[in-house]
Amino acid sequence: MTNEDTLRWLEHVADVLRENAAYLTQLDSAIGDADHGTNMARGFKAVRDKFPTMAAMDMAAQLKTVGTTLVSTVGGASGPLYGTAFLRAGTAITGKQELAAADVVAMLEAFLGGIVARGKAQINEKTMVDALTPAVNAAKQALNEGATLKEITTRATQAAEEGMKATIPMLATKGRASYLGERSIGYQDPGATSSWLILRSLSEVV
Ligand code: ADP
Ligand code: MG
Repeated sequence: MTNEDTLRWLEHVADVLRENAAYLTQLDSAIGDADHGTNMARGFKAVRDKFPTMAAMDMAAQLKTVGTTLVSTVGGASGPLYGTAFLRAGTAITGKQELAAADVVAMLEAFLGGIVARGKAQINEKTMVDALTPAVNAAKQALNEGATLKEITTRATQAAEEGMKATIPMLATKGRASYLGERSIGYQDPGATSSWLILRSLSEVV
C-alpha cells in the first residue's frame, strides 16, 4: 500500500460511514443515545475536508490527521476511541513510504491497541473490541500462513463480522449501553458495527 492507497481507504471509509449513518444510529437508539451514525459521519466529514491537504502527506501523517480530527470533532465516546486508534495506527507505520502485508497487520494491531488503551474494554463487554480483536487475530494468523494482503484483509473482515454478530447476545459492561444492564442483551453493538465497516472498507480498497 502507498499513501494514495491509504487515502483511498479513508475516502471509502468516509463514504461507507455516511451511507450507513442511519443504520448505525438505529443500532445506537436501541442500547445508547441514537448518535453513533451521526458521530461517525460528522467526524469523517471533517476528515473529508482535509483530503486535499492529506494527499501530499506520508501515510503516518495521514492516519494521525484522521486521529486528531476525530478527537476534536466527535463528542461521543467513539471520537476519542477511534481518534486514539488512528493516532496509534499512524505511529505504528512512522517513516514508511509503502506498507507490506506485515506493516498493515502491525497497523491494525496498533489500531486495536489504541481503543483498548483509551477505553479499557476487554473482550465480551459488547464494544468495538469484540469486532477488532478477532479481526487482528485473524490477520496475524493469515500473515503467519503467508497469505496475501488481500487474503489477510478479507479474513480480518470476516472475523470482524462474526465478532460484531457475537455482540448481540452479550451483556454490555462498558460504555453507555452498560447503563441498561440486562436490557442491553439482544442488540448488536453500534461500535462493533462501525469497526467492521472500517475493516471492510480496507479489504475492498485492497
Ligand atoms: P456515546 O456512547 O458517547 O454516545 P457513540 O454512540 O458514538 O458514543 O459510540 C458508542 C460505541 O462506543 C459503543 O457501541 C461501543 O462499541 C463503543 N464504546 C463505548 N465505550 C467503549 C469502551 N470503553 N471501549 C471500547 N468501545 C467503547
Ligand atoms: Mg451514542
